[in-house]
Amino acid sequence: MDLLIPPADQTWQERAKNFAETILFPQELELELNGSLSRETKDNLRAEVIKHGFAGINHSTEVGGKGCTQFQQTLINEELGKATGALWAAVWHPAVPLKHGTKKQIEEYLRPSCEGKRRACVAITEPDAGSDTNLIKTTARRRGDRYVIDGEKWFVTSGDEADYIIVHALIDGDISKPTLFLVDRKTPGLSIKREPKFTHNYIFGHPEFVFQGVEVSEECILGGVGMGLELTKDWFVEARLQIAANCLGAAIRGFELANDWANRRVQFGVPIRRHQAIDFMLADMAVEIMAAKSMIYRVAWEIDQKIDRKIIHARASVIKLHASEMAGRVLDKAVQIFGGRGYMRENAVERLNRDVRVDRIWEGTSEIQRVIIGGQLAKRGTGIFTDWHRPQTK
Ligand SMILES: Cc1cc2nc3c(=O)[nH]c(=O)nc-3n(C[C@H](O)[C@H](O)[C@H](O)COP(=O)(O)OP(=O)(O)OC[C@H]3O[C@@H](n4cnc5c(N)ncnc54)[C@H](O)[C@@H]3O)c2cc1C
Repeated sequence: MDLLIPPADQTWQERAKNFAETILFPQELELELNGSLSRETKDNLRAEVIKHGFAGINHSTEVGGKGCTQFQQTLINEELGKATGALWAAVWHPAVPLKHGTKKQIEEYLRPSCEGKRRACVAITEPDAGSDTNLIKTTARRRGDRYVIDGEKWFVTSGDEADYIIVHALIDGDISKPTLFLVDRKTPGLSIKREPKFTHNYIFGHPEFVFQGVEVSEECILGGVGMGLELTKDWFVEARLQIAANCLGAAIRGFELANDWANRRVQFGVPIRRHQAIDFMLADMAVEIMAAKSMIYRVAWEIDQKIDRKIIHARASVIKLHASEMAGRVLDKAVQIFGGRGYMRENAVERLNRDVRVDRIWEGTSEIQRVIIGGQLAKRGTGIFTDWHRPQTK
């Protein structure tokens, strides 16, 4: 049993660490204090992503990506997740379902997205449909060989930056035909209604979109009529793994900063780590991080081994739930160890603590992950979570 990180993967890890520390970290305070980055800084970041070879890490080289394994992506996302303000999002991950596109869609959308020439956002959530996607109302009505989309989409991450939207709509309002459409941002009838502010300062926005008689051709359907939910399932696995890796990175950075501070800060005549209350917090943080890392690396490796899709789906929920809640606990302790300084926005620990809160909400809330895990337990028994992967012997 070999748990060593292979040299090629280590190289990705070191490159990502260097990228986070030298390119992303220096942008953190500008983003925090101004609430956004200038156009020039964003463009520079995009150029740096390309220069450092991180463009399209999650897609194959045939379509212009870097063809990284899930394990390599996990190592990269862990390092990028150490940056505050979700600066990790500067490294784009073209949406997974795009690989199911037609040849034309791959050339028009996926390849230029991998190359950093185009950027997508994904619009599923609506005012009345969050965790329960059965409540989606956005409709694509067939009109000859075209479709007319009407509806409202909320929390569309990077919607202010994207030049096309992957939108989830029901064909003719039929709930059995959830379908993804590729819609160019400039299509008439498509507009941003509001750009609300959120707890975190994210490098891009999460605007609300209105689709009013947005007419597209049938060539804009991604992956076939009725395939919307199916395509998003695989995508959730990768997105949940990415969130888990980002949370791990955030927790590690907070832990390292708190550990260092506990050595340097002297109160009552000794470094505060000599007070057992602080020492025990650090010990608990170490244990939490070690457990999360072991789980996340294991599941990433299992995906690369192409083990059963249903098992992977269930385990992706486990790591997303565990890592996001772990990061919340670890970073809360990091803030406490810093005392008043942990409450200052100029302190990375304060920002990380705020940033990871959303990881318990997006891509399926913690409650929804528990619903998935509980459902799998009921259907398949405990082994889906307690068994260890074995190679086929026959
Ligand atoms: C910053 C941000 C960015 C986002 N980006 C995107 C994006 O790019 N694209 C997109 O489509 N969406 C995006 N979302 C939306 C996100 O996926 C939803 O917010 C999330 O799925 C929860 O939906 P909701 O907010 O409507 O909450 P609701 O579904 O209304 O849930 C409210 C509460 O009820 C609980 N709950 C609901 N159902 C159950 C149940 N069956 N059992 C137990 N508890 C339950 C939830 O866990 C939660 O605590 C984003 C959200 C945020 C905050």
